[in-house]
Amino acid sequence: MDVTHVIGTTHEVGLKGGNRRWFEKHLVRNVRRALADLPLHSIRRPSWRVLVRFSEPVPFPEVARRLGTVFGLRSILPVVHAGQTLDDVRAALEPRLDALRPGTFAVRCQRSDKSFPLTSVEIEREIGGFVGERTGRKVDLSNPDVTIHLLLDENGFWIWIDGVDGPGGLPVGTGGRAAVLLSGGIDSPVAALMMMKRGMRLDLVHCHSAPRTDPAGLEKVELLAELLARYQGRTRLAMVPLLPIQEAIVAGCPEPLRLLLYRRFMVRLAARLARRWRSKALVTGESLGQVASQTVENMAAVEAVSPLPMLRPLVGLDKEEIIDRARRFGTYPISILPHLDCCSLFVPEHPETRATAEQLAGAEAALDVGGLVDTALEATRFVAVTEPASWKEIPLPPGVEAGTP
Ligand code: ATP
Ligand code: MG
Repeated sequence: MDVTHVIGTTHEVGLKGGNRRWFEKHLVRNVRRALADLPLHSIRRPSWRVLVRFSEPVPFPEVARRLGTVFGLRSILPVVHAGQTLDDVRAALEPRLDALRPGTFAVRCQRSDKSFPLTSVEIEREIGGFVGERTGRKVDLSNPDVTIHLLLDENGFWIWIDGVDGPGGLPVGTGGRAAVLLSGGIDSPVAALMMMKRGMRLDLVHCHSAPRTDPAGLEKVELLAELLARYQGRTRLAMVPLLPIQEAIVAGCPEPLRLLLYRRFMVRLAARLARRWRSKALVTGESLGQVASQTVENMAAVEAVSPLPMLRPLVGLDKEEIIDRARRFGTYPISILPHLDCCSLFVPEHPETRATAEQLAGAEAALDVGGLVDTALEATRFVAVTEPASWKEIPLPPGVEAGTP
């Protein structure tokens, strides 16, 4: 189905009282960015919704795919504008009735224009009567197979039949800035997206062991960054060389602590970059108990070197739940491309599962911590991701099929 008008509704955004205008401004800007390659005519924002108008008909699935990346949208509705009278509504519905999904139906009307002579219930009855007569179908108000929605505002009636769930959350740009420790794995890109969904804007920090790990790993991280850029626009990525630090750890520190010591350096490096970028927190993809390094003791022992709060949005999720999200966001196919992560270099067979901060600090006494961090930051490569991933890599929202609404 092609559409010329789409309404995006909001939920939390509408609840933000005095801040509402500010939230809506971010939301509209993000909608505009997501629709930049479609023939956009205008975006208006009557209360609690965003009304998008195209200058020519566009396939609804492609609109839904794009708006599915705009956090803050609760639902995405392919609407038809039907004029000011019930006759206009009947005329607009008429051509769509033969194609309705089979079964019972209901008509639901919301009215923000209170000057209309009929109440919502009266309008529902009128239009329900028309649809019943015209199609021979039965009304079922509690569990209809098809719901015909009417929205009446100062411009007249808007009609939609099947809406789609939006991604929910809050608009990117309203939740502050953080730096995410981005590996090439499944978890950390999902962690980044979950914080974006709370309105954060994220800078990306990746640590690599080139030339010990192969360049495909870095390309993969760039692909992930391009995908994340679809959700937040322009994205910064820092590629930090970790190998000299790892070699110093291997040479000077107890073997079972290696992985945790790598992590403490990653945190120090990310925190230094975060400060430069005026970020207020670090984000990781850790999930409690997922691997030996992710016990609560180890998390505390690593976090001890962070001057910023560490956010772990996946901490209570199972791997399956994380994978499910990765599929929906579109990061999964990239995350499972084969690569060798820096953390798999020189890792011990029996890693420490209950380290303390004192124990790790004691091991680091053998190292020039400040010097190693400075050298790594001097050799860091910065990538400005301005060209996001192709829209084909962003999955259609659940319930939308390519070609049909
Ligand atoms: P992921 O799927 O995100 O790689 P994981 O299950 O493999 O996570 P770990 O390898 O233990 O878990 O990593 C835990 C967290 O540490 C990651 O989610 C990420 O935030 C961070 N991290 C791990 N490796 C790197 C890296 N090379 N560069 C930056 N951050 C990393
Ligand atoms: Mg990993």
